[in-house]
Amino acid sequence: MGTDTVSITELMTAKGHEQVVFVTDPPSGLRAIVAVHSTALGPSLGGIRFWRYPSEHDAVLDALRLSEAMSLKASAAGLHQGGGKAVVLWDVPDAPRSEALLRAMGRAIDELGGRYIAAEDVGATPRDMQVIAAETRWVTGIEGPGGSGDPSPVTAYGVVQAMGTVLEELDGDGTLDGKRVVVDGVGHVGSHLARLLADAGAHVAVADVNPERVDVLLREIGAEALPVDRALEEPCDVLAPCALGSVLNETTIPRLRCRAICGAANNQLADAACDDSLAARGILYAPDFVVNAGGIINLAEEFVGYEGERARARTAQIADTVRRVFEFARQDGVPPGRAAEQMARRRIAEEGAGRRWRPGDPAAWTNGAPLRTLRPG
Ligand code: NAD
Repeated sequence: MGTDTVSITELMTAKGHEQVVFVTDPPSGLRAIVAVHSTALGPSLGGIRFWRYPSEHDAVLDALRLSEAMSLKASAAGLHQGGGKAVVLWDVPDAPRSEALLRAMGRAIDELGGRYIAAEDVGATPRDMQVIAAETRWVTGIEGPGGSGDPSPVTAYGVVQAMGTVLEELDGDGTLDGKRVVVDGVGHVGSHLARLLADAGAHVAVADVNPERVDVLLREIGAEALPVDRALEEPCDVLAPCALGSVLNETTIPRLRCRAICGAANNQLADAACDDSLAARGILYAPDFVVNAGGIINLAEEFVGYEGERARARTAQIADTVRRVFEFARQDGVPPGRAAEQMARRRIAEEGAGRRWRPGDPAAWTNGAPLRTLRPG
């Protein structure tokens, strides 16, 4: 399929995208795409990704796919928020971005008047976000007054809450004490998760391609180290994927020896059929976008004036959401991943009822507070 306008609008129509904006700024070399999937529940929120794409077509597809995923995540988390995503076509991954390019991106976001609210994503740095934020207030996750800062600790906290529900479903009791949990990938989220699990009395085993990250946890919490290639096959109660996407696929699923999967990584299932394959093997899968919503819940708190305690309290509700997903899956006889997606889509259709958020729309539509509290200025 080509990338002409007709096929893009066809793709948008198929998945219900409201708007795709192509942005260029020839003097700075900026080339970017902003996809707004849905504003039915409120302004769309999603990260800015700086990435080297094989073609512009791939960049469009990525923006469409990721923005839709953000709508589902926000909806499942009960937020009054939609899904969006920005991708900047960037050929040299580690090269710093010029201030002119970032400012041009900030102005493009500002022109959308709040229909797209940006956050940090793959390839973006805190410095990039600071420069973008100099041009627009529609940016979340900035360090400093009113900002929610690093989302990883809250995300990890949400994973622990979800894991409690998973264990309740398996054993009728949500306690982590004495349970064996494998954390695959101990970066920002995984390392916090490993510490929280150890505090709750779990036997924690960790794996990471970066041995220093493993060593820190061996020293700090007495975690057991696993070779990376064995982590997925290790017998355990819960496997927590916290590294890359597509880790659950037709090659790995037959080799799993866990009772359940509950981790922070995005897009853990290589495709929708893997949801069925896990169910067929009797492995309970807690859907990734429900489990890892702590990060987005944390960002959404900026709309009402950020308070860490309230963000944690809202994140704790992930335990209930996972419970509802399992109930829905049982009732409808579908695997949990599909159940979560159907729940999220139903809320957008029923509560959103075909609405589109426009600049100046009622404040009540934005997690109950005026958007101007997002950031001062
Ligand atoms: P990160 O880059 O800090 O950590 C990822 C870790 O995985 C690194 O330590 C890396 O060395 C390791 N890793 C890479 N390949 C591996 C492999 N093959 N096997 C084992 N380990 C490997 O990222 P993060 O912020 O901790 O995020 C982890 C995952 O959670 C990502 O998929 C991210 O999209 C998702 N997520 C993160 C947040 C958040 O708040 N940071 C929120 C929602 C979802």
